[in-house]
Amino acid sequence: MVQKTRQSANRARTVGRTLRYIHSLAVLVIAVAIVVGGYRMDQALSRNTLDGHTINIAGAQRMLSQRIVVLTQMLETANADEVDQIRDVLRDAHARMLSGHKYLTQHQNDAKAPAYRTQELAAIYSEAGADLERRVDEFLANTAAILDLAVSTQRAADNVDLSKLNSLLGDLDKAAGLYELNAKQEIEAAELSLKLSILVALVVLFAVVVFVFGPISKRATRILQKSEMELQQRSDLLSRSFNIARMGYWVNSVDRPDELWISNELARLYKIGLSEKWLPISDLRERAQDQNNDLISSAAKVCRETGKPQYLETRIRCADGSFIDTSTSIAAQFDDNETIISITGVVRDITEELNARNTIAATVKRLEKSSSDLREAQQLGSIAMWQMPIGSKELVLDEDAFGLMRYDYSKIDEYRERIGDKSSAGTHLKQLCVGDSFSRMMEKSGQVYETGKAGRVNLRMRRGDGTIADLAVRIKLQRDKSGKPKTLFGTLQDISEAKDAQRQLEQLAYYDHLTGLSNRALFMRRLEKACAAAKKDKTASSAIVLIDLDNFKEINDGLGHQAGDDFLCEVGRRLSHVAGPSNLVARLGGDEFAVIVNGASPEETSCLVHEMLSSISVPVRVGEAEAIGGGSAGITMIPSDTMEASEAMRFSDLALYSAKESGKNRSSFFSPDMSSRLQARLSLSRDLRAAIANNELETHFQPIVSGMTGRVIGFETLMRWNHQSRGWISPSEFIPIAESSHLIGDIGAFAIRDACDHAVEMNNALEGDIEVAVNVSAAQLWHGDVEQMVAKALETSGLAPHLLCIELTESVFVGDSMDRVEALLKRLKERGIQLALDDFGTGYSSLGYLNHLPFDKLKIDRSFVAGADVSTKRFQVLEGIVGLARGLGMQVVAEGVETASELSAIQALRCDAIQGFYFGRPEPQSKALSGVEAIHSNAQAYVLPDLEGEIDALDAVEKTGLGGKRKRGAA
Ligand code: C2E
Ligand code: CA
Ligand code: CA
Repeated sequence: MVQKTRQSANRARTVGRTLRYIHSLAVLVIAVAIVVGGYRMDQALSRNTLDGHTINIAGAQRMLSQRIVVLTQMLETANADEVDQIRDVLRDAHARMLSGHKYLTQHQNDAKAPAYRTQELAAIYSEAGADLERRVDEFLANTAAILDLAVSTQRAADNVDLSKLNSLLGDLDKAAGLYELNAKQEIEAAELSLKLSILVALVVLFAVVVFVFGPISKRATRILQKSEMELQQRSDLLSRSFNIARMGYWVNSVDRPDELWISNELARLYKIGLSEKWLPISDLRERAQDQNNDLISSAAKVCRETGKPQYLETRIRCADGSFIDTSTSIAAQFDDNETIISITGVVRDITEELNARNTIAATVKRLEKSSSDLREAQQLGSIAMWQMPIGSKELVLDEDAFGLMRYDYSKIDEYRERIGDKSSAGTHLKQLCVGDSFSRMMEKSGQVYETGKAGRVNLRMRRGDGTIADLAVRIKLQRDKSGKPKTLFGTLQDISEAKDAQRQLEQLAYYDHLTGLSNRALFMRRLEKACAAAKKDKTASSAIVLIDLDNFKEINDGLGHQAGDDFLCEVGRRLSHVAGPSNLVARLGGDEFAVIVNGASPEETSCLVHEMLSSISVPVRVGEAEAIGGGSAGITMIPSDTMEASEAMRFSDLALYSAKESGKNRSSFFSPDMSSRLQARLSLSRDLRAAIANNELETHFQPIVSGMTGRVIGFETLMRWNHQSRGWISPSEFIPIAESSHLIGDIGAFAIRDACDHAVEMNNALEGDIEVAVNVSAAQLWHGDVEQMVAKALETSGLAPHLLCIELTESVFVGDSMDRVEALLKRLKERGIQLALDDFGTGYSSLGYLNHLPFDKLKIDRSFVAGADVSTKRFQVLEGIVGLARGLGMQVVAEGVETASELSAIQALRCDAIQGFYFGRPEPQSKALSGVEAIHSNAQAYVLPDLEGEIDALDAVEKTGLGGKRKRGAA
């Protein structure tokens, strides 16, 4: 309706505008027509005046010419006195005619002379040979002549040709007539054009009125009628609405300050007769039932003075004496200059509403009372209510929520103050939320808002007392009557206890009880996650590091389980410390740790791992003792190596294996060839298990020659594996496998047993004290019962203990097991067995242990011997080692002599024994025995000249059966 009315008004406005334009145009056209007509008329009239003048002159000419003729004729008969008088008159007539002639024929301003105005006049004035002008000229000349001569009047009269004069008269007559006619015609023409102009103006006026104003005004009337109708409808509707809403209004304009104009509806509301449209203000004052009957008028006054809208509620006494409760909203109306022209009060009957309000308040009070039980139940279940009007950002919590969040409800205003303006309530809420709680809640709220479906989200929030609560928040959407979202609301439940229990369960399920680190299960979950992330985004890299402690078993066995546990805890702490919070450290079990390094490059990972290994190799104080740790690490990069969790674990394991192989305290990155190497190792280790049972292991013997005599004094037993398919396999390849797969115990036992058995045979064959040296690995010392083994082998074979030498490398003293090893060595020594320190110089530079460990021999590693003949530096090192050994009362054995020149260098050092390919390679027993002959036959050749005497002496000693070595060994 409003829309339509507005359209009509617009149309009416357009029509009005068009009418105005056309009206102006018509007035312009008429004005132009009248001005043109008037101008033409004015022109004609002014010319007519001129024409009249011309006609007069023409007439005068005629008259003058006649007079001149008559006067001339009179001259003939006049006497002398009369002649003079006539001549005067004639002269005057002549002068006037001359001036008239001049006027007609000449004209100032170069305009056309009257004599030539029309063609007819021109013809009269310019007839060929007898033109009027000339004739008048002539006439005048004659007259002039008469006047000038004035001698003989006779002659003058003679000169006047009367016939000519008559024709001149006729022509002048004609000319005057023409002038008259011409003037009349022009006047007529001007009249006509004026009439025409007026006619045109009238026609235009008529056309405009008939063809333009008529239809347009008809249309305008239609539109106006329509608008009026619509306006009426609107006003009816408004009035009806007012009646339905029990509303009405009054207007108080500034020009009638003491009166109110009241609407029909208001009159009805006040039950006043409809005729009373204007009421004195005092009437309203009397009706108002507030304390001083002044509420309305004072509010009206404020509005009138300030222009600010006012609202008030007051009780009114109606005309019939009944009462109604009303609300009045007063607003001011302004003119274009912003000055108030009136104020309007919209009055509403709120009697029913007030009643309802009162009823609701009473009901709420009742409900509040009855719901205290429910509230108690809520509190028991820690449930509270919250709501958030859409768009307001203000979170409204009920009293329970305050209790639940451990905020003091009585300090609500203080909190508000702290929060600042309402718009920052969201920010404050964000501060209360822990972790990603806020974003999750926002996300959930958004879903509920979008879908209208109720939702639930679990959050963690900081309580008023600083503790953290787990909350289950239910979110619902309330809509207004039109279906528009109005409020988000819901409940808030404290589920901290349940969550704590769940967390404890999780702790059990996902954390290592000893170290508190993540356990294997959690580690695998995180690893799966990292792999999934890498599959989605190839730039999401992580590294999987497996760390294995190098000597945990020794610590555990040597210092006890408690110490072992403490040690593991400390290692866990150190790893976590180095790894930092962004990376995950887990204990997978035993002494196996694992780390997920997030988002690091291989270089960064390498640095971090290096740092971790360094941190755990720093000695750990456990109780009284100090445990030295250290570990090896294997690293796999995700996604470059793999994106599968299980594969990542396997690869890290391979890398760890390879790290351990290359020595302790190392780390290595996985490389694809590790896999094949491991495969080979695994199959070898499988085969090795069967090798002992299948008799594939064989002991070979390498001769050891006396440095003094060049004669064979013993053999080192070196194991060989005759593999079914691969043939001979070097101990360098299978011994490490045996060590790592616990097969070393069996192989070691076999080696000792076989060595002792063969030693007896060789002693018999060579008829001398031939010693056998057996290699025993560190792993054997730690894991197997070597003492038992040796005792049994000696007993079974019947070999004299002093003919058995056990070779140990420095690696047996690594870590914390020194005391245990020392004790074991001492016990072996007590059995009469010899001990040699093998591969001296390759391992640890700390020589402290040489002091108190009961070694008989020191075997210098081949790496020192090789090149000793050409490098003075090496030679000097060797000299140093030999000097040290001698100082400690040990024999020196040089290993790996291959050439004669190496031999002579070694001989110059006066080593006790020499071993190397120069004398013989490790061979099966029979071959080794048969090689002895050749060695002995060469013995003389490489004995140094200055030692000859000594050799003889020694030979003598040997023959008596008291060998130097044995003497020393027995001492
Ligand atoms: P090792 O105890 O240092 O043994 C000496 C190694 O040097 C032997 O290698 C031997 O063949 C080699 N060799 C001897 N003279 C020369 C020489 O002049 N030049 C060169 N280039 N090499 C020479 P093999 O037999 O391969 O044994 C390697 C290692 O395996 C041994 O080193 C030893 O540590 C270990 N091994 C051998 N048999 C056994 C065993 O029965 N038990 C244990 N636990 N380890 C063993
Ligand atoms: Ca050896
Ligand atoms: Ca050696």
